[in-house]
Amino acid sequence: MTFSTFSFDRRIMAGIKSCGYAAPTPIQSQAIPLILQGHDVMGLAQTGTGKTAAFALPILQHILSTQAAQGAARALILAPTRELALQINANFHSLGRKTGVRSCSVIGGVGMGPQIKALRSSQVIVACPGRLLGLMGQGVVNLKNIDTLVLDEADRMLDMGFMPDIKRIIGKLPVKRQNMLFSATMPNDILAFAKRILVDPKTVRINATSPVKSVKHVFYKTHANAKGEVLEQLLSQDEYQNMLIFTRTKHKAKSLSRKLTNNGYNATFLQGNMSQNQRERALNGFRQGRFTIMVATDIAARGIDCDRITHVVNYDMPDTVEAYTHRIGRTGRAGRSGSAISLVTRDDASQVRAIERVMQITIEPQAADVAESRSDARPAKRQSRPAKHQSRPAKREARTNPAAEKSGKPNRNRRNRSGRSRQAAA
Ligand code: AMP
Repeated sequence: MTFSTFSFDRRIMAGIKSCGYAAPTPIQSQAIPLILQGHDVMGLAQTGTGKTAAFALPILQHILSTQAAQGAARALILAPTRELALQINANFHSLGRKTGVRSCSVIGGVGMGPQIKALRSSQVIVACPGRLLGLMGQGVVNLKNIDTLVLDEADRMLDMGFMPDIKRIIGKLPVKRQNMLFSATMPNDILAFAKRILVDPKTVRINATSPVKSVKHVFYKTHANAKGEVLEQLLSQDEYQNMLIFTRTKHKAKSLSRKLTNNGYNATFLQGNMSQNQRERALNGFRQGRFTIMVATDIAARGIDCDRITHVVNYDMPDTVEAYTHRIGRTGRAGRSGSAISLVTRDDASQVRAIERVMQITIEPQAADVAESRSDARPAKRQSRPAKHQSRPAKREARTNPAAEKSGKPNRNRRNRSGRSRQAAA
């Protein structure tokens, strides 16, 4: 299938071309025709499958082909996190750049003034529920021409307690509209909610719980106090471009990032205590490759779209299988390959079993203190493991620039390191 199948307006086709999309992804092939026909849609799809364009392209088409008052907002997209909202808005900008359709993001943590101004001329509003309600309360949002509603990452919005806010927002929308709900998982309460909101929906399902096939899953058994050492070994041995490391707490994200920086890595961190500006600086630096490592809490598990991420490391295991799915969805995006590496301790045993069960993968413990597994149905295959038992001098040698060693000076190549820079240094 090609994008020309959908008979999009030529200005939309120009946007698709400039984004470099050669062919629709499976969620796009399935969802776009249904959305174009006007159906309500329930999409079960992980991030990384191209689901944003799956709803953005038909929305652009709808706006271009139907009349409304000049500058009136036509589509409302609700998203759980600021990062995801910014990401979706960026997608609308790039896909719609030749269409003249304007979109804006409405998120907390930044000034309201520019958002109020942008709202006056935007046909697409991408919003986090809290800030949108705040602006609605001030009477500066006009939703009376909204005829398309998208609830993105609905399971996450439920987890974050946004449902009452979402219901209040929906109560202010025109009754006659097209609704779409996207979710990586479909727990019962989301299903019940979807039944209330969607009218006779068509369901589109893309690998709802199974992992993205392009991601290799590796599990290393370790102890809480040995994780730092395992990570160091991964960093010195695995060829990575960008690595996203997840920790359980905000404090640990910051302290691990600082430790890596002190050890000469180009690391940054992302956690909920940071201001929106700090978050964006960290994220942009990571996306652009100024930082090769980002240590983050689950705030980064959704909404980060960075093609450069080759490795996701669960330094601390997530609390739920859903969170695991979202974290690993940061790599292996749009068909590229990636590695998901989890450092598991004895305390994580039940969580590992849950991941095994829900994702239908086999996690085989090794006789030594390393366990690993492939994600698909094939028998678990051994991956190369960090040389945990390597002696210290040998490890140091592996990380040291021979020239620097000869001169007795510290290894300057360590900063900016990645698979490529190491190769270049070798
Ligand atoms: P999403 O699941 O919407 O977060 O998209 C994941 C990534 O896939 C983003 O970087 C998109 O730009 C990219 N993408 C979306 N659709 C396509 C496509 N048809 N071909 C190639 N990449 C795509």
